[in-house]
Formats: sequence, C-alpha cells, structure tokens
Amino acid sequence: MDQSKKKWAALRPEIVESLLTAEYTEIQQCQHCRLKRSIIRCKDCIPKQLYCADCDILAHERKLHNRETNVKGFFQPLSPTTLVKVDIEGQFQFEEKSMLFFSRIIKS
Ligand SMILES: [Zn+2]
Ligand SMILES: [Zn+2]
Repeated sequence: MDQSKKKWAALRPEIVESLLTAEYTEIQQCQHCRLKRSIIRCKDCIPKQLYCADCDILAHERKLHNRETNVKGFFQPLSPTTLVKVDIEGQFQFEEKSMLFFSRIIKS
C-alpha cells in the first residue's frame, strides 16, 4: 500500500464519522404547527424549513420543492412527488403523489 492510501485508510473512519455527524439531526419540532416532530426539511421554505408529515402535505401538495426527510435518522433527498405519511402503527411510509395532479398542471 502506498503512503497516500495508508493515510487515507487511517483517516477514513474519522472523515466518515464527521460527515455523518454533520447530517445528524436532533429531534425537532415542526416549525409550522409546533406540535409534532419534524421529519421533513425543505430547502425552498426559508426560514421555516422543518415540517411534520401533516404540515408537509398541506404545504407541498401543489409545490415541487427540494425536500429531504430524516425518518431514517439521517437526511435523504425526497422526490417532489413523494410524500411521507405516518401509518396507524406510527411507522413512516413513503407514498407517491397521484400523477393525475401533475397531468392537470401540464394541461392548464
Ligand atoms: Zn406540523
Ligand atoms: Zn417547501
């Protein structure tokens, strides 16, 4: 192994750790209803970027915003057509928005 590969191998765990730490999210409140846990961060809704599942649906049903979700403990990008819903057992589910809505936008 050459020198730079050795250095990289030694530093890699630390780099990965700090990248993950930067994306770590503490549980925060939804900035819209202030009642529920936020699970969505919207990069286009400034300054109130944090949404719970319900407020996200209300706010983004008809918008194509750049959203991320942290339901798995880290932020992952969400397609503008994907909604996060909470099922009856409190588990998060991803659900695609109806494409009917988009075909209506295109027609009008
Ligand atoms: Zn909310
Ligand atoms: Zn938004």
